[in-house]
Amino acid sequence: MEWTEGEGWSEGRMTPLQNLSVHPGMIGLHYGQVAYEGLKAHRRVDGSMGVWRPYDHAARFQRSCRRLAMPELPVETFVAAIDQLINADEGSLSDNPAHSIYVRPIMFGTDTSLMLRPSRTYRFLVMAFVAGGFFGDDVESVSVFASHEYSRAFPGGTGDVKVAANYAPSFLAQRQAEAADCQQVLWLDAAERRYLEEMGGMNLFLVRGQGAQAQVVTPKLTGTLLPGVTRTTILTLAERLGYTAVEERISLDQWRTECDAGLMSEAFACGTAAVVTPISTVVDRGSTWTVGDGKPGPVTLALRTALTDLHHGLAPDPDSWLHSPSGP
Ligand code: PMP
Repeated sequence: MEWTEGEGWSEGRMTPLQNLSVHPGMIGLHYGQVAYEGLKAHRRVDGSMGVWRPYDHAARFQRSCRRLAMPELPVETFVAAIDQLINADEGSLSDNPAHSIYVRPIMFGTDTSLMLRPSRTYRFLVMAFVAGGFFGDDVESVSVFASHEYSRAFPGGTGDVKVAANYAPSFLAQRQAEAADCQQVLWLDAAERRYLEEMGGMNLFLVRGQGAQAQVVTPKLTGTLLPGVTRTTILTLAERLGYTAVEERISLDQWRTECDAGLMSEAFACGTAAVVTPISTVVDRGSTWTVGDGKPGPVTLALRTALTDLHHGLAPDPDSWLHSPSGP
């Protein structure tokens, strides 16, 4: 669909996945006026598809667009576009119940102008791909590399919205992580480079204590980390499972101290793509330490199961998080 000043949004249309033809002077290309979302549709055990929390993704998309001085897409239009795509694609998508459909809505400024100003025309489109879990379907742990050289986000910047320009500056740190044999960058706050924030495409959780007394801890939203839809889901599920959910400003050094003292023995990353992925090791300024025994812990696995049961319609869904696409 296209947006033009004065006219608003055009009617949407469905096309096969194809190349885009854009002008080389397009504002989105030069100045990064690009916002996007990433969400999933899952197959329920009864065979039907459910889209995971599309209204929450729509609300975040509106925030991202507003932050980039882009027009807001009505929430109902966002959800209807996804419903239509899932319905249209259903026949051609994998019927393997373990496979999900990854849905990528994106909006960008299409105006041709090298002037530094917001675009006056926009395009919104949605793509869908068959996907397994981010790190494969098995529960495998990941290692993280604390970046002390680069920052992902700054106060007053765009770290708490989902815009394309947040990601390219992280690629160099991701290379450093890989050179240190880690899969993910662990981002720290930009001001002091002490406090835990998140990973490249996922939020961070730590587990303090054990069993029913465990606290499920995640860095507090400071305006520089993305409020993940999975993050908020995990906070709710943690309480439902009887743990205490805590949002806390916690430093990397404190995390290590609590790990060394045996107070924290689990950590995990979560996100639409990553689901719940245990964290086994941390590389920090050349030293490597292990979280707990380095294996996926019981609290992590309980939360992962609670989440994936909801994804597949295997557990009661009192908040109707799994949305049934309305008819074609
Ligand atoms: N942080 C960042 C930087 C991300 O890109 C993502 C993926 N959208 C997340 C966290 C996790 O968010 P969500 O649970 O909404 O996928």
